[in-house]
Amino acid sequence: MKTIAVELAYFLRGRARQNLKVLMLYCAFLVAMILIYALLFRSLMWNLEGREFSLIAGIYWAITVMTTLGFGDITFHTDLGYIFAAVVTVSGVIFLLIILPFGLISLFLAPWIEHRLRNRLAAELPKETSGHVVIFGIDAITRAFIGKLQARHIPFVIVISDHDEALRLVDEGLRVICGSLTDASLLTAVRVAAARYVVANLSDPENATICLTVRSLCQTPIASFIDDPEHGNLLRQAGANQVIALHKILGRYLAIRSTTCGALAHVLDSFGDLLIAEIPVHGTPFSGETLENAGIRQRTGLAVIGIWERGSFMVPTRDTQLKDHALLVLAGSRAQLESLEQLTGERAKDDLVFILGHGRIGCAAATFLERKSVPFILVDRSENPSCTEHITIYGDATIRHVLKDAGIDQARGLIVTTNDDSTNIFLTLASRQLLPHIRLVARANREEAVEQLYRAGADFVVSNASVGAGILFNILESKASAFLTEGVSVFRRPLPESLVGQTIADSQLRPRTGCSIVALEPTHGDSLVSPPPDTRLEKGITLILIGTPAQEELFDTAIRDH
Ligand code: AMP
Ligand code: ZN
Repeated sequence: MKTIAVELAYFLRGRARQNLKVLMLYCAFLVAMILIYALLFRSLMWNLEGREFSLIAGIYWAITVMTTLGFGDITFHTDLGYIFAAVVTVSGVIFLLIILPFGLISLFLAPWIEHRLRNRLAAELPKETSGHVVIFGIDAITRAFIGKLQARHIPFVIVISDHDEALRLVDEGLRVICGSLTDASLLTAVRVAAARYVVANLSDPENATICLTVRSLCQTPIASFIDDPEHGNLLRQAGANQVIALHKILGRYLAIRSTTCGALAHVLDSFGDLLIAEIPVHGTPFSGETLENAGIRQRTGLAVIGIWERGSFMVPTRDTQLKDHALLVLAGSRAQLESLEQLTGERAKDDLVFILGHGRIGCAAATFLERKSVPFILVDRSENPSCTEHITIYGDATIRHVLKDAGIDQARGLIVTTNDDSTNIFLTLASRQLLPHIRLVARANREEAVEQLYRAGADFVVSNASVGAGILFNILESKASAFLTEGVSVFRRPLPESLVGQTIADSQLRPRTGCSIVALEPTHGDSLVSPPPDTRLEKGITLILIGTPAQEELFDTAIRDH
């Protein structure tokens, strides 16, 4: 009822009201026309044919002829009568059947539909909105981030300047506010002062403008992506609390997983003095061994806390076989990683990594490898305008002879990082066929491509969307956790009261939550990496755990709050 009243109210306002007046005038004109025809009908019938009809019969005749119904129960039998009936029919078609519907559509239906479409976009958030995330810019990264927010029931709003795109997002059921990004009133409309976080995911200049505008209104924390790592300080000055140089991070993640050389170069994250590193098995003496026989722990002190195999992660047992294409997730100290470096025996300069795509991410991967003294060759079909340092071989990498001529046969590692997923899938497929044993790391621009890249033969896939969304989510939750890749993270928690004094085996942590203890951090002294099951959990220590987001949540609900 209320909706009908709201819709009817539309016709009583502004231009719709004017149009209603025009319609009423037109209807009055039609009524007058029908009356005149009815009177003329009576008079012609009487004068030409001597028949008498009432006014009502005249109106009935005029309406049936004008609407072309023409029942034929009352008809003229004289020429003048026929001519009059023809004029009435033609004028009826024009005024009643053409002009009236056309006027109704153009003056009422079309403006009403347009009004309804426009009104699908709210002008502002309800006054009571708070604790929401304000997201500027929508792409694969923010979409993956939104998925995470929805899963946790965290409210959010997308701010966008393109009206059509905004309507498309509304159709997907998302909350959107459309407006000019430089407009401070837009920020008031999205209740930025009451928001939990602002995420800026546009170009560097636009992100800077957003930061400045937000800061002129409130102190809500801002996380901003940056294209050019050199802009980090500018963005911080503009008011960003967290600056994410995503291309640099992605480049590093790709590079780390593409070379076995120099274990220290594989550090993904650190917790104080505890380093988390990922290293491919290929090219190490552990290939084909079980974890126990490989003796990594005995020989280096490092703990193998996880294994990646073509996209699936597992916590290994002593009998787990270290397959050639797997990646080891290691935890330990700098000195322990150094001793692994001695063991693998490979020197950085003996490696050779091919990087297909010298864009922002390929360039970041090259810079990383360069710093670690790992030789590399870049291939791109066009010049990178923002890099003058790296020598590149120009050519389309999908053309067979381009890579052959560049010497891909000599490569031991391969990074596939073009901006096109089908090209990446094709290159992965072709390279895997040509070089079955190469360490192959690929980049997925869209989430859907991850699975296809693994199927094409990638050893590891780094997804822009999940890495970006994962980093954002960790920032939002203020988590002191390392983001390894989608689905697994290493995180830190103080020892819950309920576990004090128990041994690790007694605590039943793994069966109850699925999380594994990577290390114990005492208040003083060194961390104990991969503690044995009979280790007693002393009061005051901090646990460093590895697990999926669901397992992490289970730890928080089932153990910590117990
Ligand atoms: P970015 O997204 O900034 O990392 O850029 C991706 C890079 O991939 C660009 O420099 C493109 O020129 C490059 N690229 C795309 N397709 C191909 C291809 N078929 N062969 C070589 N390079 C490519
Ligand atoms: Zn470069």
